Amino acid sequence: MSYKANQQRYDSMNYRFCGRSGLKLPVLSLGLWHNFGTEADDKVTTDIICTAFDHGITHFDLANNYGPAPGSAESRFGKILKDQLSSYRDEMVISSKAGYPMWNGPYGDWGSRKYLISSCDQSLRRLNLDYVDIFYHHRPDPNTPLEESMGALASLVRQGKALYAGISNYHAVDALKAYKILSDMGCPCILDQVRYSLLDRVVETDHLLDALSGDVGLICFSPLAQGLLTGRYLDGTIPPDSRASENKSLKREKVTPQLVQTLNGLNAIAVKRGQTLSEMSITWLLSHKGVTSVLIGASSTAQLLENLKAVGQSQEFSAEELEGIEKLCRSL
Ligand code: NDP
Repeated sequence: MSYKANQQRYDSMNYRFCGRSGLKLPVLSLGLWHNFGTEADDKVTTDIICTAFDHGITHFDLANNYGPAPGSAESRFGKILKDQLSSYRDEMVISSKAGYPMWNGPYGDWGSRKYLISSCDQSLRRLNLDYVDIFYHHRPDPNTPLEESMGALASLVRQGKALYAGISNYHAVDALKAYKILSDMGCPCILDQVRYSLLDRVVETDHLLDALSGDVGLICFSPLAQGLLTGRYLDGTIPPDSRASENKSLKREKVTPQLVQTLNGLNAIAVKRGQTLSEMSITWLLSHKGVTSVLIGASSTAQLLENLKAVGQSQEFSAEELEGIEKLCRSL
């Protein structure tokens, strides 16, 4: 049966502009890196997407290689879109990326014009779309001129295959160069997608936050440190259905007694604020100027619903809370 979206879907979500662009994103966006591959359950994944949309999450983030198998998350999302959400396409912001290994041979990886343009074409076919809203270069390529990679993004925008361009995983110095090149080509970079969470502060030490200077929006991936910043690991064990149990992108050995102690310290601060650890982790990111959206993942609708509670919560942190958070995070 065809899905009908909740009429109240825009009542409680907040939206922020991507830098100086006219595009707004929900403060919470949903990414399909995990949990949407070939092995995923049709009903669970459809429910997650529709529940997200019902709560004002209009932005869904993909990449050519999301799965497993690579490409399967885009194919799955394309099918859910076609079957359930096709009449809502203009209410959605769908992004994809290329930059990591995707197909064999010299043209299926990194940042050449050849790779980026053919990969975007492949993504559009899998997604069953005429255009994506945002297309990102997924990581910097030290062996391709930045002008070539950024030129490919600008071409995709000119061809109407993407509405906006973005970059991801660039360090501040190269990010600034990329912003300038794109801007000079009349195709401003509207979003920079970076790993940022209470437990991962590289963007702070790299001065990327300063580099954005209001022109480019920041969208934070792995805001819950792949699940570490949730209730999942507080007792120091690794639940059998958790991401750490897979021992791939999140290694089991990461869950050390010291980390668990830090997580419990953070959780105690969250509880005092009347939040769960995941809610506090999201509101802490949203309290930062320059953050457009927090890009979460979820393996169930229940997780998504818990994380959505963060949207209406206070993003004010007392000096004491901030000091406590910094002390705990610096101790790692
Ligand atoms: P998170 O840090 O939000 O981790 C999501 C995982 O945490 C879930 O799959 C689930 O794992 C667990 N989780 C989430 N909420 C809860 C909860 N309330 N209670 C308990 N467990 C919870 O983000 P991801 O690492 O998944 O990244 C999000 C998105 O960011 C990706 O889908 C992708 O779109 C993007 N991304 C971009 C990258 C880039 O290079 N540009 C790199 C990585 C991600 P489980 O239940 O399985 O344990």
